[in-house]
Amino acid sequence: MADEFDDLNFNEVDEEGNIIHSDRPSDQDEKKEKEDDYEKYCYLCRRPESTAGRLIHMPNDIYVCQDCMQKTFDGINGGSLQFIDMSNFDMSRFSNMGMPHSQRVKKKAEKQKAQEPELTMENIPAPHKIKEMLDDYVIGQDYAKKVISVAVYNHYKRVITNTMDDIEIDKSNMLMIGPTGSGKTYLVKTLARLLNVPLAITDATSLTEAGYIGDDVESVISKLLAAADNDVERAERGIVFIDEIDKIAKKRNTNSRDVSGESVQQGLLKLLEGSDVEVPVGASSKNAMVPLTTVNTRNILFICGGAFPELEEIIKNRLLKTSTMGFGAELKDKYDEDEDLLGEVTMEDLREFGMIPEFIGRLPIIFTLKHLDKDALVQILKEPKNAILKQYQKLLALDEVDLEFDDSALEAIAEQALEKKTGARALRAIIEKFMLDIMYQIPRDDSIGRVTINRDYIEGKGVPIIEMRGVEVPALEGKN
Ligand code: ADP
Repeated sequence: MADEFDDLNFNEVDEEGNIIHSDRPSDQDEKKEKEDDYEKYCYLCRRPESTAGRLIHMPNDIYVCQDCMQKTFDGINGGSLQFIDMSNFDMSRFSNMGMPHSQRVKKKAEKQKAQEPELTMENIPAPHKIKEMLDDYVIGQDYAKKVISVAVYNHYKRVITNTMDDIEIDKSNMLMIGPTGSGKTYLVKTLARLLNVPLAITDATSLTEAGYIGDDVESVISKLLAAADNDVERAERGIVFIDEIDKIAKKRNTNSRDVSGESVQQGLLKLLEGSDVEVPVGASSKNAMVPLTTVNTRNILFICGGAFPELEEIIKNRLLKTSTMGFGAELKDKYDEDEDLLGEVTMEDLREFGMIPEFIGRLPIIFTLKHLDKDALVQILKEPKNAILKQYQKLLALDEVDLEFDDSALEAIAEQALEKKTGARALRAIIEKFMLDIMYQIPRDDSIGRVTINRDYIEGKGVPIIEMRGVEVPALEGKN
C-alpha cells in the first residue's frame, strides 16, 4: 500500500493519466531495487515474463507476450479472430489505468542456495584439520579418521592440481571394514558434508550385472549426478559410498550364474579405475526418453564399506596356521578374545573371503573400524555436535524445560544398545521409545521446569524426576 502512495506522490502524470516523469532522483536506486522484485506479465494470457518469454511493450505501458501477439496475428490472417476480438479491443480502457505497477507480479524469491566454496589448493583443509572436523561428530575410530583424512587430502590434492604427469599418484579408493553401526556410513556422510562435495550412497546388494533385474553398476553414477544437482563437473569430484560390499563376495560352491556377486565386482572395476560412463540426466534408468550425459569417474572417490562377518574367522585361521606348533590352543584363546582382530586383515584374507583380486587391487587403502564399547556409546549419546540428547534438550528448551540425564541413565541406554549388537544404530531407537512419553506429557504442564531421566526410568522400574518451576516434586505421577 505504502508503495502505491509513494508512486502517486512522486510520479508526474498528464491529464490522461500517462506517466511523464517519475520519481525523485534520490529515490531512483531504491525504486530500481524494488522493481527488480517485480516482473511484468502479459495483458492477455496473464503469464509473467519469466514464463511467457520476453514481452512486447505497447503504448500505454501494456505488455503482451509473443505467443498472444502471434495468435492475434494468426487470427487476423486466418480471417477469424479466435483469441481476441479486436473490435472490442478498446485501447482507451488501458490509458486510464496508469499501470506501470499493476501489470506486474511479484517474482518468486530465489531459493537461497548455500554457496559453499569449491575445494581449491588454498582452502583444502590439511589432514589434521579434516580429522579435527570429524572429531566434532564421530566418536572414537581415531585410526579410521586419521587414514581417511590423509587419503581424502591426497585425493583432492591430486584432483585439484591434476597431478598425473610424471609420477602417477594412485587413486585413493578405500575399503572400510567394520561392524554394523560402528559409523562407516556416518563417517563418509560427515566427510562429504564438511568438504562440500556431492555424495552418493548405494547398497551393493541392490546392484546386479547390466541386463538383469536390479540396478546396474552405473546407476551409482546417476545417483551422484543427482546429488550434484546434475552438475557434471561437481559430480566428477564427488564421493561414492558403496555399502555392504561384503555381500557381493564371490559365491562359493554355486553352479548358477553369479549375477549379483562376482560379476558386480567385475562391473565395478572400470568405475573404480576411471572411465567415461553414459548416465541418464534426471532419471535413474536409461530409456529412450531421457537425455544422456557422460561422466568421467577418474576423479570420483570410491569408498566401499562392509561388515565382513566371517572375515575374523579367516584371519584367525591364517594367524593360527602361521604360528609355531604347540602354542595353538593358547593363541586361539587370545585371538578369540581379540575384538579388533579385523585390524590384522590382509589382501589374502579378503581374497579368501570372496573378493576378486582385481577388485581389492583397486582399493589401495584398507582400514578397519572398531566395535564401539559402552563408553563410546555413552559419548555418542552426549558429545557430538548433533548428539541425540542435545537435540531433545534443545526441543524441550523451546518449552523452557531443562532436560537432564543421569550418568547412570546413559549407561543403561548404552547397555541396552550393546545387547542389540547393532552398534550405535540401536541408540536412537531406544531413546525414542522412552522419550515419547516425556515429549508427550511435559508440554501439557507449564509449571514443569526440569526433567531428570534416571536409570530406573530407562529400565522401566521408575519415573523420571520432575521439578516444578521453583518447587521440587519427586515424580511424574498422576500424569498418565
Ligand atoms: P554403519 O557402520 O553400519 O554404516 P552407521 O554409520 O550407519 O553405521 O551408524 C548408524 C548411526 O549411528 C549413525 O547415523 C550415527 O548417528 C551413529 N554413529 C555410529 N557410529 C558413530 C560414531 N563413531 N560417532 C558418532 N555417531 C555414530
